[in-house]
Amino acid sequence: MAMRYRHLAATAKETVGVYRSDIHGRGLFCKRIIEAGEMIMEYAGTKIRSILTDKQEKYYEGKGLGCYMFRIDRDEVIDATLSGNAARFINHSCDPNCYCKIVPIDNIKKIIIFALRRIYPGEELTYDYNFAKEDIKLPCNCSSKKCRKFLN
Ligand SMILES: [Zn+2]
Repeated sequence: MAMRYRHLAATAKETVGVYRSDIHGRGLFCKRIIEAGEMIMEYAGTKIRSILTDKQEKYYEGKGLGCYMFRIDRDEVIDATLSGNAARFINHSCDPNCYCKIVPIDNIKKIIIFALRRIYPGEELTYDYNFAKEDIKLPCNCSSKKCRKFLN
């Protein structure tokens, strides 16, 4: 796992690209056949404490920046807004072709995106954001047959 991880950043450019998405804004697309179970890329960014996320979000909002964050666990979040890679553009789908897993690499928790099934060039990469249920609903635009209509 650690060996594969070390090659990820070097190979990402041949594997994926950022293009306009029909789901939302920009998305991440497959550029070569990705096999089921393959490690695709890291969701890179800066690790911040959970209690700081609200403050950071407000700061980015004030600067007119789109905020990209991914929760590792109760205490820690990866903030990809300024220091992230293309993984932050991966959109949500209710019937995704990827999944994310927290993997310890040299004892540091990393968020890694893996392929759920074989993915072909031109397909948009997606994973299930698994957002908690909330009263203010975010509509889903994934257009899959299994669409739950809302992200949360
Ligand atoms: Zn959906």
